[in-house]
Amino acid sequence: MAGIQTIDRQYLTVARSMRASRLQTIARVLLPAALPTVLYRALALRDALRRGGLTPPRRGDDVQEHRSMTQITLSFDNGPDPDVTPQVLEILRRHDIRTTFFVLGDKLRERRYLCERAHGEGHAIGNHTDNHLVPLGMSRAAGTSTFEIARTQELIGDLAHERKFFRPFGGGGLLDKRLLNPEAVEVLVRGGFTCVLWNAIPEDWARPEEWVERALQQCFSQPETLIVLHDIATGAMNKLDRFLTLAKDRGASFTQEFPASCIPIERGEILRPIDTYLNSAD
Ligand SMILES: [Zn+2]
Repeated sequence: MAGIQTIDRQYLTVARSMRASRLQTIARVLLPAALPTVLYRALALRDALRRGGLTPPRRGDDVQEHRSMTQITLSFDNGPDPDVTPQVLEILRRHDIRTTFFVLGDKLRERRYLCERAHGEGHAIGNHTDNHLVPLGMSRAAGTSTFEIARTQELIGDLAHERKFFRPFGGGGLLDKRLLNPEAVEVLVRGGFTCVLWNAIPEDWARPEEWVERALQQCFSQPETLIVLHDIATGAMNKLDRFLTLAKDRGASFTQEFPASCIPIERGEILRPIDTYLNSAD
């Protein structure tokens, strides 16, 4: 430990010297064995000083930098709800995080004001079908997918994002053939929709008290996470603040952007294979 402290003192001295252009002091403070580390840190600190950042690096910053590579995109499905959606919006406002709400047309009819508020606060509004009863991949009735997508989009109206976000649903959050049928794909392609899937689903609806730890595990097991939560009345969102606080403490950053791997269809163009999500059986 004494050695590290000595090196720390040395690189700070070197950095100050370089800032002051007194380069002759470098030779005096550098120990030959520590030369690479000292020089590297001194150069990094000199660059930071030039950029205007005057805070000297602290021990542990390397760990923070590594953790901060974890990026999380939040999304909230199945709302809006008159009690839970305002609660979620308030928490997101406190944390200064923008997200996307994938709403149901059936709920939107009476509760569009909640989407207007979310939209006004910088969140995106996406389409999550009208009644969310039968996954489109399990629906055989012609016209159903068209209605489920088009009717909800109509209700979202001018609150829609220009990329026209649509998120299908299946069963238990699984990414399988229950998500889409050929008619749904046709509607999405013709309508210029962007299909938004996910890569983390902590089952907050099934474990309202216990989803946070599972969510953290999922988020920190990959560099980019698009997580599905639900602004519905299960009580799970009472833990949202805790989840966000813990994720931030562990170094995660939040973005409104979706990971490219979660977008098989962008503005009507099929970018990735969709066979996994498409039930094309008669
Ligand atoms: Zn859903």
